[in-house]
Amino acid sequence: MTSHDPGTIRSQAMAELATANRVLVMRGVLDAFGHISVRDPEQPDHFLISRNLAPAAVTAKDIQLYDFDGRTADERPGYLERFLHAEIYRLLPAVRSVVHSHSPSMLPFSVSSMPLRAVSHMAGFLAPEVPVFEIRDVAGDASDLLIRNGELGQALAGVLGQSAVALMRGHGWVAVGQSVPHAVFRAVFAEANAKAQAAAVQLGEITALTDAEAIASAVANHGQISRAWALWSQEVAIAREQNDAQRSAR
Ligand code: MN
Repeated sequence: MTSHDPGTIRSQAMAELATANRVLVMRGVLDAFGHISVRDPEQPDHFLISRNLAPAAVTAKDIQLYDFDGRTADERPGYLERFLHAEIYRLLPAVRSVVHSHSPSMLPFSVSSMPLRAVSHMAGFLAPEVPVFEIRDVAGDASDLLIRNGELGQALAGVLGQSAVALMRGHGWVAVGQSVPHAVFRAVFAEANAKAQAAAVQLGEITALTDAEAIASAVANHGQISRAWALWSQEVAIAREQNDAQRSAR
């Protein structure tokens, strides 16, 4: 396999995915857990995702190629929850990137009777509603809540449907996009919106965007994704250079 040859579209996707891992860590969406994947540009019935590694440590060399049954030729251990990525790509052909996170501001909305709403114009993509995946509907009431197989992944993908984001009760959430920067943008602003909504609720009754405002905001912001991605990927590059400089100074 020539997947690590620089210059191929797959190797470019691998490099972008490695950067995205670090962006999501710097932005508080991922920590030791969670992952981001991209549909393979060369074989669209496959996807790329890091081997089993903390996102802050991921480089392009750590990216593995999987089919939709969660199989890879790479012998290094992979993420247990790769099935959630696989089944979303299988069910939803327009999805090109998937983020899975356990981030602290989103999690409360997965277990609360208060729905997560688009309260910020940066998160208009959350409207008209954010579905909540209840794993008990598929796995009974004694599961470990992880998406360990294709059946669970398929159920989650079905609940997500055409939404940008789905919450996973007691576990976390997924965000999808038409590209890696798009999925990262949605993940970052979903987390920020959740934090803002929780803060606003402390102050009084909240006013969410109307569905029409949310759609108009999402359209307006879609044109600005490249600005965010340019900034965030540059921050990652600067942090990496500083790391390298510190290492060589020792
Ligand atoms: Mn998880």
